[in-house]
Amino acid sequence: MTDTSTAPFYATRSPSCIATDGKPGRGAFSGADYGAGELIISKRRPTIASLDTERLQDTCANCYTWTEGSSIGSRLYVKEGVSVQACGGCKRFRYCSKTCQKEAWYRGHKYECKALKQVIDKPMPKAVLATMELLIRRKHGLVTDAEWAAFGLAESHIDDFKQTGQYSGIELMAMGVSQFSWTQDVFSKDLVAAMYAKVLTNSLTLITPTLDPLGIVFDASLSVINHSCDPNACIMMDGPEISLRTLKPIKKDEEIFISYIDTTNPYPRRQSELKSRWFFTCRCSKCLKGPVLLEDQWISQPNEIDGKWKDLADKFIGTEEWATDPANYVGDEPDQKRIAAIQGHAFAQYEEEQGTPEPAEAIKVIKDAMRMCYQSKLWPVYRQPYAALRDDLIVNMLAVGDYQGAWQQCAKRYWHILPKLHPRAFHPVRVVQVWQSAMLAYYLQAEGGMAGADVAPIALLLVMEVMNAAPLSHGKDSTFARSVEKKFGEMVLDMQAGAGGDIHQELSERMPQTREQFKEMATWSEY
Ligand SMILES: [Zn+2]
Ligand SMILES: [Zn+2]
Ligand SMILES: [Zn+2]
Repeated sequence: MTDTSTAPFYATRSPSCIATDGKPGRGAFSGADYGAGELIISKRRPTIASLDTERLQDTCANCYTWTEGSSIGSRLYVKEGVSVQACGGCKRFRYCSKTCQKEAWYRGHKYECKALKQVIDKPMPKAVLATMELLIRRKHGLVTDAEWAAFGLAESHIDDFKQTGQYSGIELMAMGVSQFSWTQDVFSKDLVAAMYAKVLTNSLTLITPTLDPLGIVFDASLSVINHSCDPNACIMMDGPEISLRTLKPIKKDEEIFISYIDTTNPYPRRQSELKSRWFFTCRCSKCLKGPVLLEDQWISQPNEIDGKWKDLADKFIGTEEWATDPANYVGDEPDQKRIAAIQGHAFAQYEEEQGTPEPAEAIKVIKDAMRMCYQSKLWPVYRQPYAALRDDLIVNMLAVGDYQGAWQQCAKRYWHILPKLHPRAFHPVRVVQVWQSAMLAYYLQAEGGMAGADVAPIALLLVMEVMNAAPLSHGKDSTFARSVEKKFGEMVLDMQAGAGGDIHQELSERMPQTREQFKEMATWSEY
């Protein structure tokens, strides 16, 4: 029997999780009543976390401070002048301080370092490194029996991997894990393969407080939480500290769900992604309704599309694989198939720009795709990948120094996209994107403002919005919430020095006018 009286949540059989073989899986259930935006549980650090290959160069492998954090507003909590030094032994991991290096060393790196020293120049994927660390630490008594038992219960999906022909690849990687971690004497070949498969299917994303992805997290207690496209909870990170927070009120004994994917995608795309990566058919409250919700809306009927787009679609069908990919399914009518092909093209371009490192090049691809979404008169602004393309356009415009362009896009996103995709004002994605817009406005104002607009009060309005939401999205004592509050104080002082009067009074009087001006800016860009 599980004692459910005091634990924040407990694991037991879940009716929502049915494995491919028909057996019921497990899920996490709430141990108490929680309100929206509350903390369920936080841990000082997850069992295992592993950085992306590129992040190994610029991120502390102990506290996960990303020293090069590039998006505007993302560096706020990074102390000035922090850099990382490589471990002298393995040269693979970097640390921001002696304290961090020492902590990692005693957590198990002292054993791992010796093994990794033999393969200094060998590139190793994050899932391989994570599995190696777990096995090495277990071998040396640095993973508790309880944690190890919890990993034992996690689903490995070995049969699914076998069925989809991916198992030989897993066996091959597992052989490397065994060999390079010097754990062949303790763990069997099958156990290592199963553990590696568990890392692949049970990992969460390691993120910064501003949601930049850094790598993967494999945690014994959190890996039991199932997916929903309409989740009632989410995982947040503050350095190494990982927490489970509510997005909606959750009653005692109600199942807790997080999302594994971008839930703003249309229904067929969500289904397809969950099936191919996690081997299940999603039957969440949202998926049960089918492709009838906001994410699946078009603004024209299939038969209303212009001849130009019909011709383009016909060209794609029969030549491009994505044109008939079930992930883009719209319907069986010829015009619905055409829309599916056009959508396939938009997603293919989205993938292409994501893989384009050069910002100016990426902008070209993004604008091309966005223009198609706009001109075809099919996409509402909040439908994917139109919205995701805009997010990337903002990031890339900032990278090339087009701050005014980025600002117009931020305004459009603020007024027409965020309230649709994330109706709750404290949804972490919304909070972080509003925060980035606030910092951009603040920067623009410091650089001399924008033609025909006073952005300073807008910056303040946005920061205040973030300040109200951050205790719910990130927690009131989080680094993020404290940084936002500090920044707000600085901004007020700045403006006070400039204005010389009672800034609060003046600002609140001007608030309606400020909002109007800001809303007007959302119409400045063509698409
Ligand atoms: Zn550190
Ligand atoms: Zn080392
Ligand atoms: Zn779903």
